[in-house]
Amino acid sequence: MSQMLSRPAGGAFVGDYAGRDSASAKRDHSIQPRPLVSAGRPVLVDRHLICAACGNAVEPAGPDTWRHVPRGRRLAGRSKWLSPLTLAELRKLETYEAFKARFATAVRSDLGLPFTTTEDQWREALRRLDLYETRLHAARRWRTLGAVDNPYLDLFTILTAAPLPPAVSEILDLRGRRRELAALFSWAIPTNEALDVLAKHAPLLECGAGMGYWSALLQARGVDVIAYDLAPPNARAVNRFHIRDRKPWSRIRRGSSEAAVGRHPDRTLFLCWPPYEDDDASYAALRAYRGEIVIYVGERHDGATGSVRFHRELRLNWTLTQEIPLPRWPRLSDTLMVYRRNVVRQPHRERDRCFECQRFIRTGGIGRCDRCFENRPTALALRAGPHRVEYPPEAVDAMPPAQRRALEASPNRISASVIRRMASRRSPGSPRRPSSPCRGRR
Ligand SMILES: [Zn+2]
Ligand SMILES: [Zn+2]
Repeated sequence: MSQMLSRPAGGAFVGDYAGRDSASAKRDHSIQPRPLVSAGRPVLVDRHLICAACGNAVEPAGPDTWRHVPRGRRLAGRSKWLSPLTLAELRKLETYEAFKARFATAVRSDLGLPFTTTEDQWREALRRLDLYETRLHAARRWRTLGAVDNPYLDLFTILTAAPLPPAVSEILDLRGRRRELAALFSWAIPTNEALDVLAKHAPLLECGAGMGYWSALLQARGVDVIAYDLAPPNARAVNRFHIRDRKPWSRIRRGSSEAAVGRHPDRTLFLCWPPYEDDDASYAALRAYRGEIVIYVGERHDGATGSVRFHRELRLNWTLTQEIPLPRWPRLSDTLMVYRRNVVRQPHRERDRCFECQRFIRTGGIGRCDRCFENRPTALALRAGPHRVEYPPEAVDAMPPAQRRALEASPNRISASVIRRMASRRSPGSPRRPSSPCRGRR
């Protein structure tokens, strides 16, 4: 079972750490508080750093010193010391000295981050951000794309061109940049090679096209493609994945993927980054599709894209015939994959079951059903959004004592009284509620 840290929405509350041992005794350790670091990364519990000695929340108190957060004080969701660096803020800091003063965490080694930012690296990050901002501003005003244009790839290259020391990468805030660019273009970054492969399978039908960037590049190359989205982004309609301040790059027709596939049986289906929690965007489209070739851009197996059922369908009934790696953001493995339909169709027999009682649980679920958890709760379980993270005794024994103490005192811990309430809500003979066991997803 994954050891995921809980990340509650909004600010974390520093609770009263009266655990099995006296909290006050624990706080009175004689050594200076320091943040707990594990495998080179600071350990966060409920979104705050914890003291390596006692597990209480800590915050920077000045250069190279840390202090316990006073008990009962509400912590901001994003500390000024730990929030990502924004360009607007960076620009206001005209000297390296000013940068060091404002972003102490980026220049100090005692946090255990895998970098400290030197003056040269700070200048390099600023140079890249400056160029990036100028080009991004220009790209936002483009209306049409030519056959050789690919502003998304150009912007990505400015940010990620080697050498990219971790400190520069951190200042560039690649995670934030990715969201910014994905909202304007698409999640995956097209390349000439990928577009050439798509062109060979035209005419194409792109479902879940978002801003229509891939379709626009294909059309600029003379490829026959039509694009659909359930909620085409425009000035009036809100698409939760894309921005409102410009029109899509190509014409997007409104419609579900399944309906679009039914309407255009003569076109090759192209799916780019279907969300992993939405069966309709990937699985339903693939099942409705009658063609022999499907082109899918995203991650293989149970990655960040495509539902669990979609990946099972690909494994059972389709054969991968071509793979083109795409430019990749950190921790992602975007790939363009061409699949051919197998001659004989196999039915889905794989079902997800509770590890313990073997009853069926929601497709894609991992772990135990609610009933097993209620009957035999683990000593340590936390609520993390819609999921439950159970820590088996081996995992609890293996974690640093400070982390264990912090998790045990977390306001997101599922306590014995909560478990009793869960059990009493289930009247005898009532249908089982769907379980929501944890999944280690990004
Ligand atoms: Zn401490
Ligand atoms: Zn069970």
